[in-house]
Amino acid sequence: MTRPEFYDEGALVAVLTTQPLDRLLDYKAPEGGCLLGAFVEVPLGPRKVLGIVWGPGRGDWDISKVRSVIRVLDAAPMREEMRTFLLKAAEYTLTPMPAMLRLATRAPGLGDPPSMRKIYRRGEGEPDRATDARRRVMETLAEYGDLSFTLKELSEMAGVTSSVVKGLVKQGVVSEEDAPRDVPFRRLDPSLPGKELTDDQAAGAAMLAEAVRSETYGTTLLRGVTGSGKTEVYLEAVAACLAQGRQALVLLPEIALTAEFLKRVQARFGARPAEWHSGATMTERRRIWRMVGQGGAQLVIGARSALFLPYQNLGLIVVDEEHDTSYKQEDGVLYNARDMAVLRASICGAHVVLASATPSLESWANAEAGKYKRLELTSRFGPAVMPTMGTIDMRAAALPADRWVSPDLQKAVQARIDAGEQAMLFINRRGYAPITLCRACGHQIACDQCDARMVEHRFLKRLMCHQCGETKPMPTVCPSCEAEDRLAPVGPGVERLGEEAALLWPDARIATLSSDMYGSARALKAEIESIAQGGADIVIGTQLVAKGHNFPNLTLVGVIDADLGLQGSDLRAAERTFQLMRQVAGRAGRADKPGTALLQTYQPDHPVIRAILAGDEEGFWRAEAAQREAAGVPPYGRMAGIILSGPDVAAVFDIANHLARADGPLRQVGAQVYGPAPAPIARVRGRHRVRMLVKADKGVALQGALRKWVRQVQIKGDIRLAIDIDPQSFY
Ligand code: ADP
Ligand code: ZN
Repeated sequence: MTRPEFYDEGALVAVLTTQPLDRLLDYKAPEGGCLLGAFVEVPLGPRKVLGIVWGPGRGDWDISKVRSVIRVLDAAPMREEMRTFLLKAAEYTLTPMPAMLRLATRAPGLGDPPSMRKIYRRGEGEPDRATDARRRVMETLAEYGDLSFTLKELSEMAGVTSSVVKGLVKQGVVSEEDAPRDVPFRRLDPSLPGKELTDDQAAGAAMLAEAVRSETYGTTLLRGVTGSGKTEVYLEAVAACLAQGRQALVLLPEIALTAEFLKRVQARFGARPAEWHSGATMTERRRIWRMVGQGGAQLVIGARSALFLPYQNLGLIVVDEEHDTSYKQEDGVLYNARDMAVLRASICGAHVVLASATPSLESWANAEAGKYKRLELTSRFGPAVMPTMGTIDMRAAALPADRWVSPDLQKAVQARIDAGEQAMLFINRRGYAPITLCRACGHQIACDQCDARMVEHRFLKRLMCHQCGETKPMPTVCPSCEAEDRLAPVGPGVERLGEEAALLWPDARIATLSSDMYGSARALKAEIESIAQGGADIVIGTQLVAKGHNFPNLTLVGVIDADLGLQGSDLRAAERTFQLMRQVAGRAGRADKPGTALLQTYQPDHPVIRAILAGDEEGFWRAEAAQREAAGVPPYGRMAGIILSGPDVAAVFDIANHLARADGPLRQVGAQVYGPAPAPIARVRGRHRVRMLVKADKGVALQGALRKWVRQVQIKGDIRLAIDIDPQSFY
């Protein structure tokens, strides 16, 4: 290893800050000097800001005006590979470096002295009087010997109130001390025995372990139907990685909902891994950030931003449900965590496992082209088999306007209830009803800030805009014609379906799962847990329930509207519907009871619906790939979305038109620009949105051309320009 570069006190250093400036700033190294990559605090105008020592200063400033670094923060300097990763990710996504650095420092108080908390252990004294409660505290302490507890842990384990513990502290029976919060995570033990694997699984696990041990970059697409044991297999790769003393990262799409997964990890390795997600508290985030950087965390289970933690020695990245759309960040820095995982791994010599039952066409094509290795698990583990799939032709069901469950589906659900099993009804719409219509004047209630309807959320007793999150109380008179009591819900949402279910099955226990119905991720987790234990006969849910939960007693899935995703002109409509339907169906029949999935549809002959039923995945991908190839669209061509927005629509269009005409740099590489046109959602949060689409051939170095192209216009005032490389959504 080469010695990291060091700058003596007073030497000029270039610092990258988190502030939106498009250049590095020169500072003088502080007293004691600093290392390349050091996290520092620097003065910027009247403020102190966070930065990284990025290299030697350029010296093109009046030296007498150059200020000094205020202090070097108490954090491991950013490693070279991390700096390279941020640079390349910035280049690929056309993101300014300060924004990249903000992504990599999303933990509060990075440089502050370690925060402390009170811990409790056995002290010297004896209690003046022994009560039952006090005895339980003493016994708990005796049982765990030297270990210390938080107040909450100790009182919970002893089954006493915290005041009992506090009373014992006063008498010196229990000692109270300050201890740093940022302590290493408990060691995971990769040598604990895993499950006994089937031959298929064992071969896969061996292949992945070997790849990890090679310590060179590579990507494997791990494909297998839901329940085939993909998780078991990649946990063996994690074990191989930990055994080598390297760190591993497992990315999951819905991190808040991973109670079951965490339990499995704990069972496999004997301790809990670090959990990085939006629900984590600031102190937790800080602890993880620091421990990852110091090697005090071996395994991180995280949402997409866990990719930007300062790993010391990363050997494996698993992207579970790699096709999931939530890996694409859609605001701020527009990046796809799956692609960035591959980039990061290629820089640090780590292996990547992309796991999915229904891979993205991108990954499928990369495997076809030989860029990724393929690993397939073909059958479900044990007696579980893939569910039987069928359609219900809704044209024949002739339902009244406010009903969505066909008689056939109703019968099928009833049969499951009678058999003591669970059924799930799936609808991919949050809230009560997507439209609130005035029956007097036809007005539909829309958001004031967005070109979007407001969605009634009866549970919250409010209308909500799904674009900007704005809510308002449900009006009693029409905001347009002021007619009273004429507002009516139109169309189904998950809450309304719950209401219908209560009518159809009055004696059944019905659990409606929607993210906004639970105050916290924790409450939602508890509800899912209770359903898995048999706490409901019918589960009603949105996309949320399609993601990786194991309901062993669930044997029927009814999809209320299988056509929903097929509407619209989205490039990936077919792919997404195929993935979602297969995934939802996969919820049925995971244990020893075979499952059934029934899709309600108005177009049972639609090729996508037929492909879903036939279960011929390879055939579906081939057909889809051929179509995309013919059209020259991803993954067989390149795309970038340009979104201009601002409060004044004419000003936004001015710039857009100007750009569209100045397309020389794009034409130079054979790329074309389409638009400008108003975006499908033409106004969000009061800002008018205009889109353009750039298309190019696959091999084209599009980023360079895009950079040259947009540099030609000056974006002034309140207008913003965002470039979305490889766009996933086109709203
Ligand atoms: P996937 O990730 O492909 O959906 P999982 O790894 O979650 O599949 O496996 C599905 C279920 O089968 C889990 O409950 C898992 O513990 C169990 N399972 C899979 N393989 C084995 C095995 N070899 N031994 C015991 N249980 C297994
Ligand atoms: Zn809105």
